[in-house]
Amino acid sequence: MRISRDLVEEIVAHAREDLPNECCGIVSTRDGAAVQVHRARNAVPSPLRFEIDPRDLIRIHTDIEESGHEMGSMYHSHVKSPAYPSQTDVNFAQNWPGVVWLIVSLADRSAPDVRGFRISDAGIEEVELAIE
Ligand SMILES: [Zn+2]
Repeated sequence: MRISRDLVEEIVAHAREDLPNECCGIVSTRDGAAVQVHRARNAVPSPLRFEIDPRDLIRIHTDIEESGHEMGSMYHSHVKSPAYPSQTDVNFAQNWPGVVWLIVSLADRSAPDVRGFRISDAGIEEVELAIE
């Protein structure tokens, strides 16, 4: 997935602002490239999990539809663990077939790590991020 350095920085900034809890949101895409970061509230503020606030989800979904873009990617943060899907993420991913999961790890606060994955019945597959 192609994503600009600026959008990656926006996701990292959101993750830092929501510490000590996980942050979450949607990245809209067009032709497989990230277009915009849409922040959402974590409806269950916690350092261990997230749930996109349902009202935010409706608002973001409408915005993206009206722009003619796609709900291509979901992002969230891991505050202490690596940027790799947890079992909770794998379970949750069943509700979101086909999206790229972006996970930002702040385990090392001075060196945030952002990685992308596809999660399906077949398992977890890393998606290369072309940061440009
Ligand atoms: Zn997670």
